[in-house]
Amino acid sequence: MKNIIIAIDGHSSGGKSTMAKDLAREIGYTYIDTGAMYRAVTLYCIENGLVSNGELNEEKLKTLLPGIEIRLQYNPATGRPDTYLNGQNVENKIRTMQVSDNVSKIAALPYVRKALVKQQQAMGKEKAIVMDGRDIGTVVFPDAELKLFITASPEVRAKRRVDELLAKGESVTYEQVLANVVERDRIDSTREDSPLRQAADALVLDNSDMTIEEQKKWLLTQYRNRIEQINGES
Ligand code: C5P
Repeated sequence: MKNIIIAIDGHSSGGKSTMAKDLAREIGYTYIDTGAMYRAVTLYCIENGLVSNGELNEEKLKTLLPGIEIRLQYNPATGRPDTYLNGQNVENKIRTMQVSDNVSKIAALPYVRKALVKQQQAMGKEKAIVMDGRDIGTVVFPDAELKLFITASPEVRAKRRVDELLAKGESVTYEQVLANVVERDRIDSTREDSPLRQAADALVLDNSDMTIEEQKKWLLTQYRNRIEQINGES
């Protein structure tokens, strides 16, 4: 069967990564979480004192960026990739509110995007990937065979995120998470370089009222329909 690229974009905390990971496992594709890559750069900036009082030392980041090595390595126990930053597993560290509060500003920097997009494009060279992010169907793989845009109301997304963070033992409030989700959407959608946009040829899903099982089924159906269509064309 022909291998394709599946690009999944959408708003923050919309459940993209759960859907993408499950689909990838079901069809034997590699799942790539590009948000984790931007989060890893952000963690690096925090841990190396490049962020203070919310201000980023851009000059230092530009110098240090070529030395930041990010690797995604499949973890069979979780069924998704773990993120490694310069050889260290940072999968839990990149999901904290501190990283979430800083990531969108750093992800808006053109030189950061340029470096990460290059790596993402290399990861998709052989196709057979499900990649999720904000600009996958518009910038990273504008020719992806299947593009999906996932959204849900900010309240639903914040509620899901809060439950996830509380389950991990982080002390956060719903209001705090809702404010973060709304602010990240704002920065991601209004930045100059690769703003979050729905690709003209993307299929849209609002999953506000759907269970994870229903979302999984929907996604698998879109994949099968697209493959059938491609086979019909060839
Ligand atoms: O997907 P996740 O919410 O983990 O992404 C974290 C942040 O990384 C987003 O809010 C966005 O600012 C940035 N991002 C991006 N482009 C991508 C993926 C994520 O700008 N392709």
